Amino acid sequence: MSNLHIFLCGFAIPLPLCVKNMSINTKKYQEIIGELSGKATLVAVSKTKPVEDILELYNLGQRDFGENYVQELVGKYEQLPKDIRWHYIGHLQSNKVKYIASFVHLIHGVDSLSLLKEVNKQALKNNRTIDCLLQVYIAKEETKFGLDSHELDAVLTADLSALNNIHITGLMGMASFSNNMDLVRSEFDYLKSLFDKYAQHKTQNTKLKTLSMGMSADYKIAIDEGSNMIRVGSLLFGERNYNG
Ligand SMILES: *Cc1c(COP(=O)(O)O)cnc(C)c1O
Repeated sequence: MSNLHIFLCGFAIPLPLCVKNMSINTKKYQEIIGELSGKATLVAVSKTKPVEDILELYNLGQRDFGENYVQELVGKYEQLPKDIRWHYIGHLQSNKVKYIASFVHLIHGVDSLSLLKEVNKQALKNNRTIDCLLQVYIAKEETKFGLDSHELDAVLTADLSALNNIHITGLMGMASFSNNMDLVRSEFDYLKSLFDKYAQHKTQNTKLKTLSMGMSADYKIAIDEGSNMIRVGSLLFGERNYNG
């Protein structure tokens, strides 16, 4: 046993120094991937976490990552492998769309027609089409952004035919930050019912196929209620230092 350190490292340095300091929860990652078994997409929410942590997960095969600050997202995009699919999951201000329009894979939090128009404009400038999810307000809290059911209906039934450079591909929602799992479940159930309601509503640039709901604390319930895209951060990367 005394030679174990030499075996592992190739150098005669003490064992603790050569054990790689993994800061991500690999076991949890494998567990979640197993639970989803290809039926839902895992977006690893890496906000506030360093590029080294993202690379660890990348090296395990993860390709979808989520960020909610434009500046941070742009910085990480520049430093990391180009086959990463970057999801913008925060509240997007119109004047910041231009910074992410060349590369963003999916914008989760679109909550107005004017933002959709700006995304379209910037997508056109970059000669591409950008996929967007409409964020629906489902929580019993004042702090969450999103459309209510009437506003959602207004956006989906508006004439979007001039917006050739966006696709509305689904809905996104955040449940109440609550220990009351019945409440959380009912909010997800409500979002799923809206998703189903508009499932047949297909136009040239609208076809709902993605239902983005579920985070570290509630992703199992979300999957139960029909989510096919979960956004998980702290379970994989550990707690964040600030509440992003
Ligand atoms: C931070 C964040 C998440 C991930 O939260 P965790 O509880 O750490 O899993 C998911 N969705 C959005 C919109 C977020 O801002």
